[in-house]
Amino acid sequence: MVNAAQFKETALINPRKMASHIVGYPRMGPKRELKFALESFWDGKSSAEDLEKVATDLRSSIWKQMSEAGIKYIPSNTFSYYDQVLDTTAMLGAVPERYSWTGGEIGLSTYFSMARGNATVPAMEMTKWFDTNYHFIVPELGPSTKFSYASHKAVSEYKEAKALGIDTVPVLIGPVSYLLLSKPAKGVEKSFSLLSLLGSILPIYKEVVAELKAAGASWIQFDEPTLVKDLDAHELAAFSSAYAELESALSGLNVLIETYFADIPAESYKTLTSLSGVTAYGFDLIRGAKTLDLIRSSFPSGKYLFAGVVDGRNIWADDLAASLSTLQSLEAVAGKDKLVVSTSCSLMHTAVDLVNETKLDDEIKSWLAFAAQKVVEVNALAKALAGQKDEAYFAANAAALASRKSSPRVTNQEVQKAAAALKGSDHRRATNVSARLDAQQKKLNLPVLPTTTIGSFPQTVELRRVRREYKAKKISEEEYISAIKEEISKVVKIQEELDIDVLVHGEPERNDMVEYFGEQLSGFAFTANGWVQSYGSRCVKPPIIYGDVSRPHPMTVFWSKTAQSMTSRPMKGMLTGPVTILNWSFVRNDQPRFETCYQIALAIKKEVEDLEAAGIQVIQIDEAALREGLPLRKSEHAFYLDWAVHSFRITNCGVQDTTQIHTHMCYSNFNDIIHSIINMDADVITIENSRSDEKLLSVFREGVKYGAGIGPGVYDIHSPRIPSTEEIADRINKMLAVLETNILWVNPDCGLKTRKYTEVKPALTNMVSATKLIRTQL
Ligand code: GLN
Ligand code: ZN
Repeated sequence: MVNAAQFKETALINPRKMASHIVGYPRMGPKRELKFALESFWDGKSSAEDLEKVATDLRSSIWKQMSEAGIKYIPSNTFSYYDQVLDTTAMLGAVPERYSWTGGEIGLSTYFSMARGNATVPAMEMTKWFDTNYHFIVPELGPSTKFSYASHKAVSEYKEAKALGIDTVPVLIGPVSYLLLSKPAKGVEKSFSLLSLLGSILPIYKEVVAELKAAGASWIQFDEPTLVKDLDAHELAAFSSAYAELESALSGLNVLIETYFADIPAESYKTLTSLSGVTAYGFDLIRGAKTLDLIRSSFPSGKYLFAGVVDGRNIWADDLAASLSTLQSLEAVAGKDKLVVSTSCSLMHTAVDLVNETKLDDEIKSWLAFAAQKVVEVNALAKALAGQKDEAYFAANAAALASRKSSPRVTNQEVQKAAAALKGSDHRRATNVSARLDAQQKKLNLPVLPTTTIGSFPQTVELRRVRREYKAKKISEEEYISAIKEEISKVVKIQEELDIDVLVHGEPERNDMVEYFGEQLSGFAFTANGWVQSYGSRCVKPPIIYGDVSRPHPMTVFWSKTAQSMTSRPMKGMLTGPVTILNWSFVRNDQPRFETCYQIALAIKKEVEDLEAAGIQVIQIDEAALREGLPLRKSEHAFYLDWAVHSFRITNCGVQDTTQIHTHMCYSNFNDIIHSIINMDADVITIENSRSDEKLLSVFREGVKYGAGIGPGVYDIHSPRIPSTEEIADRINKMLAVLETNILWVNPDCGLKTRKYTEVKPALTNMVSATKLIRTQL
């Protein structure tokens, strides 16, 4: 029996195509075309029409590419000028009052004001999208939020594709995930139940659905990724009631609920698979090994299973044979005509197109698949399932996989052995932190409330030019070294004049805190265009860790020694920690993450020991991204924190008591991981503190117990504003009210790389004056 919806589906959705689906696709373009178009528009250098033209071209090329590759279920409305959650906020007309929006269809100016702020009003808050490096704009909702259908983007994108002859699956962020990702607006009680707004937003979802149906859509995809988080019964019930409420509006459509990023808990799986009106479920089977068991043990009959077997979060070529066998086993569960091959999540979390990689050698390239290649993989799997296996394509894939497995570039027995030996045992410094700090103080002789900075100093246009020209071999090594030395000496002089106690060399030789190390470690590869959207127009280009990591030569010793030779004050050696290097890279998928992390830890350990031997007495090992790696599910936190913290300790367990180890973290919400932070056993930790003073510091009271040094940033470096002496003094006093005098350090929030000297000099001057003022009052 074929019901009406299914009939419509076979007739309308890209006929003769095999059952293949893509959850979402990168929007930036293969060469970051959208980024440049956006920035030029924001700068007033181009018009809205120019921007729209770039966007339209990108969308049509993406749709055509997927259609030509043979994809049957092609997503629309996954494009965005800034962020898909903000797009949903626009769709619902949930514009916070401060943007003085007067109703109607939301235009670019209101949209970008919410995203980026404007001359008079600050932007909405941004936060990490689950455990990815993508950041979304957090909706601000309350009992008085007025909702209206204010952005018809989903419908217009659907029609736009249709006009190109491509029938797409419009994608919406599901109503429950939308609310669960929101926060109560300013002034609204924290206890306000965001889910109580379901009744207010569902009517708008119904309007959108009705319009999509009228435009001819036969499928719709609701992304409900919060289903993989730890949800309580009340939250789960919201899913049931939301979709029950939408059921009649959705009738006649095939409805796909898409989940991703982790295993789905058994309770949530039960709720999901009993939602009314839903005909298809999408799962991340890369990060969902247990989900696979749930599916195998029970899958509702007559429903579609969208099996996310191609990894959307990495850059590795799929193991097609393995995926095919998983898919074949799922055919028995869902039925041959109900199984759809898909990606594990939106491909926006991977790089765009391998075609543009001209610097990578052919061997490494053969191991990789970016978004454009993943689309082809999905389709090849779907064809194979349908009995049209492209033998040559599968054979080439198997050969590439075999070459990766056996390549001497991947395996380094010595490193493997050393890393394996670390697992069972513990690594920590022999002496406790209070005794270490005493020993260090005897040598360093620092004043009370020592002042320092986080590492980088402003990176001028001139400095970037020097690095670029050296890389392009336009200037000689001698010229490069002398230019960097000059920069370091300038930075040292400034700090001495400011009378800062523990100096830094300013990191002028570094383009990026991970890339700088990756380029010198073996086992890393770098792309030319492997950009991934981080937020808005901002993209990052993560290194690729493809092999066992080792350190062929010292990486920072020359610069640190040079800098130390310029001053009699202590000069901090500056390293990036193993967990941060791991979390900001594309990591190999042929061994557990912790193995790779231990290998990096061993490499950094060597660097730490060389710095110490070169006479550097203070070494800072940044772990800016330690918290980012925290798994989505609470049940997995302990394991992650255990190996992450262990990796950090491995880097410095071998130094003498008199060597002072600092670490730095760019965030302040430590509440849930405070014990792990303490367990890192650093001598001094500097952290961001621009927002939540009291809460943060009360958490760090615990630090008193073990007595390590703490430097909560005394001013925000993310803003060009120059804090006054009084303001900083006030901050320090507030900290002293909570923390013991002898453990407090005074420093900015983070590195000064993105600031101008005209901001940095007066800000640091005021920081030092404030510190001196308070010292006289102690
Ligand atoms: N040492 C680095 C710097 O100052 C730290 C940057 C960071 O934490 N993101 O730039
Ligand atoms: Zn930082």
